[in-house]
Amino acid sequence: MSKGRLFILSGPSGSGKDTILGGVFQRLPEVRFSISCVSRPMRPGEQEGDKYHFVSREEFEQMIAEDGLLEHNCYVGNYYGTPKKPVEEAIRDGADMIVEIDVNGADQIRAKTENTVSIFILPPSVAVLRERLINRGSESPDKVEQRMKEALVEISRASDYDYIVVNDRLEDAIDDVVRIIEADRLSKERFDFANYGND
Ligand code: 5GP
Repeated sequence: MSKGRLFILSGPSGSGKDTILGGVFQRLPEVRFSISCVSRPMRPGEQEGDKYHFVSREEFEQMIAEDGLLEHNCYVGNYYGTPKKPVEEAIRDGADMIVEIDVNGADQIRAKTENTVSIFILPPSVAVLRERLINRGSESPDKVEQRMKEALVEISRASDYDYIVVNDRLEDAIDDVVRIIEADRLSKERFDFANYGND
């Protein structure tokens, strides 16, 4: 069996990560997605179990205490975390999985897991990012400013990642992420040398 891979995808809020991921999963439906747990309120249009499991702060703290999370972070006053079990299952099954997390979560996973490839999504410019956050209209002006501040910190960490994708044209950005995943499948680390030629 060929080995699976954990793809870490990060990028500032408003970089278009979710839209890119939607396109990637259409093209590569066999890739698994890690559903995060979050203590922030649901936004209009979001659904439980789609991208997030929405939990209370107390439930989240319980998961931390039970060591049920691979990583977690507090972002703009709310907890976000990656449940451990689905990731362990994906690695066991030799499947590809994408975890969409922030830069701090990415650091935590890299420190614990060897088998990762990381991709950072950049907006075409900081001005475009601010425009996208304002136009989203789901946050108050001071939350938008907080997200902008976090975004600048996140962008300064882009060089920690293996690949950088600039989301200028959506279709190109989707193509880029698909090509990274497909090329990685041919990497020597993923080749099953032990069973080669044993048919
Ligand atoms: P949003 O509230 O806009 O959905 O997400 C805010 C930020 O949290 C984004 O940068 C997103 O990538 C990050 N995030 C989402 N899920 C997780 C997670 O499980 N762990 C960590 N560390 N960050 C997450």
